[in-house]
Amino acid sequence: MITKKYEVSNDVYDKSIVEAANILKSGGTVAIPTETVYGLAASAFCDDAIAKIFIAKGRPQDNPLIVHIADISQLGEVAAEIPDEAYKLAEKFWPGPFTMVLKKGERVSNSVCGGLDTVAVRMPNNDIARDIIRNSVPLAAPSANISGKPSPTTANHVIDDLSGKIDAVIMAGGCSVGVESTVITLCTNPPKLLRPGAVTAEQIREILPDLVIDNAVLNQLGKDEKAASPGMKYKHYAPETEVVLVEADSKSFVSYVNAQENCCAVCFSEEEALIDVKKICYGSITSEESLAKNVFSTLRKVDDLGVKTVYIHAPEKNGVGLAVYNRLIRAAAFKVMKL
Ligand code: AMP
Ligand code: MG
Repeated sequence: MITKKYEVSNDVYDKSIVEAANILKSGGTVAIPTETVYGLAASAFCDDAIAKIFIAKGRPQDNPLIVHIADISQLGEVAAEIPDEAYKLAEKFWPGPFTMVLKKGERVSNSVCGGLDTVAVRMPNNDIARDIIRNSVPLAAPSANISGKPSPTTANHVIDDLSGKIDAVIMAGGCSVGVESTVITLCTNPPKLLRPGAVTAEQIREILPDLVIDNAVLNQLGKDEKAASPGMKYKHYAPETEVVLVEADSKSFVSYVNAQENCCAVCFSEEEALIDVKKICYGSITSEESLAKNVFSTLRKVDDLGVKTVYIHAPEKNGVGLAVYNRLIRAAAFKVMKL
């Protein structure tokens, strides 16, 4: 299969949107930009289309997909029961990096939901994504990477992973947030945060004061423990290089990595000049947003350095820093060193 590339500059915008929407309506796959990461989209209502996503990504069948909608009126097309809180949360956080798990609507393909009776729904804050949905149908769209690899934050990351395996990719710019959406479920009592993202637990608690944080957000599941969010049990986001996440102040991090061999450091910009081994800076210690934006592209660069081990300086778990920490601890297969 040859993957078509659609440009979205002004003069070809409408044509690209309509062609991408037509591919999706006829059961094909298109990688689309969102504000979080690039998504690999297919019709949420079509079993055959959804099967193509799982095959292209090599994604385990029991890991459910998020359904993307463009307007609040579409929520009733994909969810069966919509509590009042869902509308309040939608009003506050949509369009944006926020996903709600609700009772599944009948039309949504069972394979979207990994066999569960619930569906995850989000409205992305990206005009291209919403215009494609408006011209087609609600779209199931996991991150557009090979399963287990770092999520894609540029169209070229998508091409590196999926060229020849999907029908088309929209060649838009980089993603403004850089980590996947916050996921909560309204199907448990109390409601639960399943995956941290740019919308924080504190912000959600203004509407859901009793929100709890799922154990799997920061801890490895026990062997017999069932995952509330199936995606959280898999190794994820990982380069080939061995990853160690390091919790330390700057001075200790710098002196530790400088004493190691055959390694590189993923560090904050404030530390860069002090580090003697190979290094990649992933943002500023004062801006969790900058770390979120760069974390996946940084993980994609690590293997090019040809070292045995990468030591990554862990962010504080504040704000979107919690989401960055959650992704890094999985990239490190829970190997954490505290100095
Ligand atoms: P991705 O599509 O790669 O962003 O991953 C989607 C995430 O949403 C995974 O971690 C899933 O486990 C989670 N998710 C999707 N649907 C559901 C659902 N019905 N119940 C719980 N978690 C879900
Ligand atoms: Mg993913």
